[in-house]
Amino acid sequence: MSLATGSTPPALDAIREEDLRRDIFFLASDAMRGREAGTLDELRASMWIAKAAREAGLEPAGDDGTYFQFWPMRRVRISEGSEISLGNKPLALWRDVVVTTPVTSTVDLPVVFVGEGQPDQLANVDLHGKAVAAVVHAPTSPPAPNMSLRGYRYALAAVRQQSQALIDRGAGAVILVSDSVADDDMAFGFGGVALARGRYGLDTARSTLARGVTPNVPVLWVRRGMLDGVRAPGQRLTVRLYTESFSYPSVNVVAKVGGMDPARRHEYVLFSGHQDHDGVRYPIDGDSIWNGADDNASVSVALLAIARAWAKKPGARSALFVWHGAEERGLLGSYWHALHPVVPLESIVAVLNGDMIGRNNPDSAALLGAQPPHRNSTALARMALEANDRVTRFAIDSSWDRPTHREGWYYRSDHLPYACMHVPALFFSTLLHPDYHTPRDEPQRIDIAKLARMTRWMYATGWSVASVAERPALDTGFQLERRCAIGPRE
Ligand SMILES: [Zn+2]
Repeated sequence: MSLATGSTPPALDAIREEDLRRDIFFLASDAMRGREAGTLDELRASMWIAKAAREAGLEPAGDDGTYFQFWPMRRVRISEGSEISLGNKPLALWRDVVVTTPVTSTVDLPVVFVGEGQPDQLANVDLHGKAVAAVVHAPTSPPAPNMSLRGYRYALAAVRQQSQALIDRGAGAVILVSDSVADDDMAFGFGGVALARGRYGLDTARSTLARGVTPNVPVLWVRRGMLDGVRAPGQRLTVRLYTESFSYPSVNVVAKVGGMDPARRHEYVLFSGHQDHDGVRYPIDGDSIWNGADDNASVSVALLAIARAWAKKPGARSALFVWHGAEERGLLGSYWHALHPVVPLESIVAVLNGDMIGRNNPDSAALLGAQPPHRNSTALARMALEANDRVTRFAIDSSWDRPTHREGWYYRSDHLPYACMHVPALFFSTLLHPDYHTPRDEPQRIDIAKLARMTRWMYATGWSVASVAERPALDTGFQLERRCAIGPRE
């Protein structure tokens, strides 16, 4: 046993299965309606969390002495009154045709068919002022064979890549006809539902998150059965697309426990999760409430349990608890807080984020940000692994932390914006399962004993971070294999 960073966390017993069970059965109940970001359901869940945090003994750390940090979420979508016809035949929006990017556009153009749009097929065709139709082909970097939602990801990557090439050559509109992969219900059908919702982003000049600035060239994705229609000579495409934009409030719930050491209490260990999920959507097996019990009520209630333990026995450094809003809309709450932290960013010594910690094999778990190129603090990763050795003894599945892993799991939760801002950060997870992002992610499927053990692991790691003399150092030369949307000021 190493004593370099470890000291036994003093209130492990305060993390109790009965509390976790009670809380997750409430937060992920049908009454909470799936906690969709930007809706009253997310606000209701956030108020419940703030109340529980206050009862746990946490102080408010949000705006004006409250537990809340409100921020605006921008949503842009295609309006219902939009119309698209091929020839004289109107197409049903989202059922026959999917508009891949919300743009305002009116065009009436002749259709030219270019096969797969390969360079030799384009060589002698003038695309200017044409609606260019092509068949989808595999994108340059296709998703791995068994990645979740593979058909949809494949189609979206293909459509983006091919449409950009055609727009660059002057196309006035683009029609991409599904190949066999993109025509699948889990690709085209899912795309119709997902893309109808529009896109979500933040209004901020400091990042590429300010979305919606795209050329007004309509990019349409259609079923394979439309191939003969677009190939027929003399066809015209008529498009009248209108967009509407909303600014919604979303919210981060923020609370803290002050540190006991006057010299270090201005430094914080940040416990992170997200309270939102996907709300009420299309039914699967008669159930339309996407409860998000594992994703991410599990960590939301884990943070409450850690808060109770922490309030009983505060650490030397302070603890900051952030329940991020709108993670499911693109990590928006954590991007917002990383750009507008409630305490100085430099005072956050580590971010311990969790997402989905209550499923799969009882004795295994994953820690992401623990190996290069995802690891940004060797010292922090070591503290978490030592805490596991001392307290929880999970077998660690490290394969999901590799840059070659098909899911790119490291990029899919709230530690990422902080890591991009060069704050030492880790991601605790028990990984994917077949109920992920379906109405079947319900509380009765959670392994409460495992959830408690994961909670103790996060708590024990945080305790080490709060107690150790030197704050965990950022590794020099840290650079992720993908580009960050935000970064530290130069
Ligand atoms: Zn999640």
